[in-house]
Amino acid sequence: MLDIKITKTTEPKQKPAKDQPLGFGKIFTDHMFVMNYTEGQGWHDPRIVPFQNISLSPAAMVYHYGQEMFEGLKAYKGDNDEVYLFRPDMNAKRTNVTNERLCIPSIPEEDFVQAVKAVVDIDRDWIPTTPGTSLYVRPFIIATDEFLGVAPSHTYLFMVILSPSGAYYSSGLAPVGIWIEDEYVRAVRGGMGFAKTGGNYAASLIGQVKAHNEDYSQVLWLDGVERKYIEEVGSMNIFFKIDGKVVTPVLNGSILPGITRNSTIQLCKEWGYDVEERRISVDELIEAQKSGKLEEVFGTGTAAVISPVGKLRYVDDVMLINNGEIGELSQKLYDTMTGIQYGKLEDKFGWRVTV
Ligand SMILES: *Cc1c(COP(=O)(O)O)cnc(C)c1O
Repeated sequence: MLDIKITKTTEPKQKPAKDQPLGFGKIFTDHMFVMNYTEGQGWHDPRIVPFQNISLSPAAMVYHYGQEMFEGLKAYKGDNDEVYLFRPDMNAKRTNVTNERLCIPSIPEEDFVQAVKAVVDIDRDWIPTTPGTSLYVRPFIIATDEFLGVAPSHTYLFMVILSPSGAYYSSGLAPVGIWIEDEYVRAVRGGMGFAKTGGNYAASLIGQVKAHNEDYSQVLWLDGVERKYIEEVGSMNIFFKIDGKVVTPVLNGSILPGITRNSTIQLCKEWGYDVEERRISVDELIEAQKSGKLEEVFGTGTAAVISPVGKLRYVDDVMLINNGEIGELSQKLYDTMTGIQYGKLEDKFGWRVTV
């Protein structure tokens, strides 16, 4: 149990108006959670303080070699003003998987969850209530030693900041166009693709820019060695419904193990689908589409929950999926997952956590 010291703000900020478009990641709440790590002492001084700038030496290691990690989850407000998190224990576990890869000291899972709950609780009035909106929770850790040598840092900061965010879809699920990238790669096995760390995103920006220039909203990455097998989309995992079966790339070390991916697999199995976690080549996808067996494609991730894909482009091949419309399974997954998250549906799996 952390003994969290709380300093409340004396100057609360103006909260966004009910009808104000929130967008994503632009507005921050009144408070944040902070905890330090010092070698020999461990994690110490857990505290909640007013949201504010931090001061670091320009030589702080995080600025030079990218030793950092982050997580992402959401807090939802249900009817009766109840506040819910969705499987925060999974974020805590994944934090330590990422930490191990990046030589960052681990955080006890229960401390991670306690920190998230405590700061969400303090700023619970910031959780928007318009349908589809939520409070995005961003825990992260940075290396803070003042040192330009290449080595793991001896000191770190763990912080949790909160951002009210708008509905991902303002008018129902809208299928997106996705660019299959054949030149750049995001991660390789043995690298850090399975870890949630900024470096993976730095590597992905160029592909994102390329896709945007071609009027596609996201990039689908191929494996880093043969550039032949499907990996994942920008910040989402990817699923295909092929000839009645649900297929998704197997976690091979270069793919981020999404919590929404895990939940999607559990729900599909519960509903009686055959779910295959395996290698899928881009050729198999093109073949399936040509023979009319590629029934649905959708991305899964905390931000959008389920993101139907209406169009895929690989080099000069443009594949239209399900006539550019939302598939039945995509819609059912979205309705079920968000129903559980907002406390409107029964939570069979015990995924919902009340704050
Ligand atoms: C966070 C993330 C995902 C989705 O994970 P969720 O836990 O479902 O939000 C997928 N891919 C990448 C690269 C990510 O960073």
